Amino acid sequence: RQRVFSGIQPSGNLTIGNYLGALKNWVAIQDDYENYFCVVDLHVLTVPQDPKVLRQKIREAAAIYFASGIDPEKSVVFRQSRVSEHAELAWLLNCIAKVGELSRMTQFKDKAQKGGADSASGGLFDYPVLQAADVLLYNAHLVPVGEDQRQHLELMRTLARRFNNLYGETFVVPEIFVPKSGARVMALDDPTSKMSKSSSAPGSYVAILDDPDTVRRKIRRAKTDSGSEITASPDKPAITNLLDVYAAATGRPVSEIEARYEGKGYGDFKKDLGEVVVETLAPIRERALELLDDPKELDDLLESGAERARKVARPTLRYAWTRMGLD
Ligand code: ATP
Ligand code: MG
Repeated sequence: RQRVFSGIQPSGNLTIGNYLGALKNWVAIQDDYENYFCVVDLHVLTVPQDPKVLRQKIREAAAIYFASGIDPEKSVVFRQSRVSEHAELAWLLNCIAKVGELSRMTQFKDKAQKGGADSASGGLFDYPVLQAADVLLYNAHLVPVGEDQRQHLELMRTLARRFNNLYGETFVVPEIFVPKSGARVMALDDPTSKMSKSSSAPGSYVAILDDPDTVRRKIRRAKTDSGSEITASPDKPAITNLLDVYAAATGRPVSEIEARYEGKGYGDFKKDLGEVVVETLAPIRERALELLDDPKELDDLLESGAERARKVARPTLRYAWTRMGLD
């Protein structure tokens, strides 16, 4: 059986973007693969975190994985920091990655820019190499992620091929899987930037754990474009984004939604979209809150996941050692 690997950083409140771009697709394919879904709590350290908040966000992320439909019988769910092979393989890959190629990563450039490029952490620069280690450790064939991760996946494939060329066939070269809709949900207050859970403006995203009234309010206040038609087009980035969310949440094509709202106004459309999103998130939120009530159960699930992950990660790391002459 082929393997799938993916992860989300516990860097804030998981958003509808993380759900539509990643989680929903993990659930959709979990029966067809052997799955490894990781709470990437080493990646999250690449930008400053408050330890007290982080502890809670790690649990929330795990609870949301399970609540979204990730089944611990079918999928291995674990914390990255608890499988030390991730950091160990990242070091080996660091030594074949090139500063030039890492410098071209747009996620680094965007995130480094926020705090001033010189004060960005070395970890932030190295982020895609750790991500490559995450996936290559499990020899995963498929990586279901949002559109923003495409460049990192290309680098990951480059590193896998380079390692194989230098040291002999070792790693599977993974494929990216990006959904047709919901692959790049834009911020509600700015349709030119990606919705992100690490944003300091809570109005820019719908969080999976937002209560229904908050969800409705955020969507009502979402930025719209000039004009009044509910159509997807390049000069209507805000409405195009809301249509894409509607399409991804309901599984209906955008054209059908446009037809349904012909002659109607932004207000009607946003009101209905608010209900669509509330309905999508309500069962996930309820189940996640239940799981969060019993932190012991959640911790046990994560610990047993880490044990299962190590069983695959350890031999892969040893094999890479041997290939490089470290046996
Ligand atoms: P951060 O702001 O901390 O980077 P994030 O919201 O970008 O948080 P990540 O943990 O970086 O979330 O990414 C987790 C997964 O969610 C990845 O597969 C990523 O491609 C996907 N993803 C993130 N944001 C979006 C979005 N706006 N639309 C669709 N998918 C997204
Ligand atoms: Mg991100």
